[in-house]
Amino acid sequence: MYEDRDRLTTLWGEELQLFRELHPRSGELWEQARAHLPGGVPMLWMAKWPGDWPVYVADAAGAHFRCADGIDHVDLCLGDTGAMVGHAPAASVAAINERLAKGATFMLPTADAAAAAGLLAERFGLTEWQFTLSATDANRHVLRYARQATGRRKVLVIDHCYHGTVDEAYATLDDAGRVVSRRGNIGAPVPLDETTVVVEFDDVTGLEAALATGEVAAVLVEPAMTNVGIVLPQPGWHEAVRAACDRTGTILVIDETHTLCAGPGGMTARDGLRPDVVVVGKTIGGGIPAAAWGMTHELAERVRDSLAWGGEGREDLDVGGVGGTLAGNAVSLAGIRATLAEVLTPEVYPGMIARAAEWTAGVQAAIDEFGAPWQVTQLGARAEYSFRPTAPVNGREAADAEDFALQQYLHLHALNRGILVTPFHNMALMSPATTSADVERHTVAFRQAVASLYA
Ligand code: PMP
Repeated sequence: MYEDRDRLTTLWGEELQLFRELHPRSGELWEQARAHLPGGVPMLWMAKWPGDWPVYVADAAGAHFRCADGIDHVDLCLGDTGAMVGHAPAASVAAINERLAKGATFMLPTADAAAAAGLLAERFGLTEWQFTLSATDANRHVLRYARQATGRRKVLVIDHCYHGTVDEAYATLDDAGRVVSRRGNIGAPVPLDETTVVVEFDDVTGLEAALATGEVAAVLVEPAMTNVGIVLPQPGWHEAVRAACDRTGTILVIDETHTLCAGPGGMTARDGLRPDVVVVGKTIGGGIPAAAWGMTHELAERVRDSLAWGGEGREDLDVGGVGGTLAGNAVSLAGIRATLAEVLTPEVYPGMIARAAEWTAGVQAAIDEFGAPWQVTQLGARAEYSFRPTAPVNGREAADAEDFALQQYLHLHALNRGILVTPFHNMALMSPATTSADVERHTVAFRQAVASLYA
């Protein structure tokens, strides 16, 4: 917790004033937008940015965007991973444009589908793939498949996880260890303890006990937590999860939507994990809606058999609760094929990871210089600082360190100096186009911000 709240209030006021002076055109656009958009935004969480209104984007390329007021920004948010490949990567744009001009959506496959599935299979080692428009949908569908295959009802997730707007995953543990709804869960359909079991990250004993009940269809985990700051797994955690799933016939789903930053096959390939299902999304289409899940052949067979795809089940395949009219559309698949084959290639990762190491070193240097009781963690091309002196080992520790006012100040300070940091936490992501000079811009501004708080 940052103690000097008066100082923080003064600093915040100064930055807010500067923001207003720098962004008058965005302010006008926002005023106009409020006529027909609640909060002036097309999606409610865009109202959470620091400042009186969101910054409007004019155009973007690579790791930069220009706002409506003509200011160049280094984008370390990259659409919270949607644009991890950089904005408008040439090969993706060319493939998407070419496909768009030839028809976008048919409810029929194009040749790009099998090519995209092949590329994903090569990277993640899972043989059979399906496509959706969002990682949220992929997770939802996978949970249905897991229930279908196992005949069990419940899902196990990690405390303070995030897997998209998946109802079951909005569960958390209260102080007494009961499963309850997380804060801010809008219009929850059913009490969360009916659908979900929650354990802390790295709690092997808790996980084993939960699976031993035989009620859990699927374990849905990120290989490292990335949505409550970064929490890296402890040695042995993934092996223990796999072993417990094997013992109890539970389907292990690894959500690599963010951890694709760790390598071309995410942490699954990097660390030799053995999930039954991998979920990926966000950046794989080069910026357009696209996501996928991959299954082992064995699981795909179980699902196919139980649904009787080739026989009497065929009649119901369109209304089974898995799908979406534009899921697997031709443009998404063209985007995935081109992005994986030509943009997010194995060759770009070392550079992205080196930029993240530079960013981490810059943040650490400022923390050390001014004695801020903070820490920074890197995970591949992503890094994040948190307001506690040591790396958190689970979601609760990470969540307990949150300080919304402090975070908003730091983000607005960065924004006013032409740097966009991921909202909602203190994350920076590197694209293949991010340069050391881009990182340096953050290092200089961050040092200034830490000095303003602690010098
Ligand atoms: N899985 C993870 C790990 C995520 O972080 C997110 C979004 N932050 C999602 C799934 C959902 O992605 P989308 O919002 O694109 O559906």
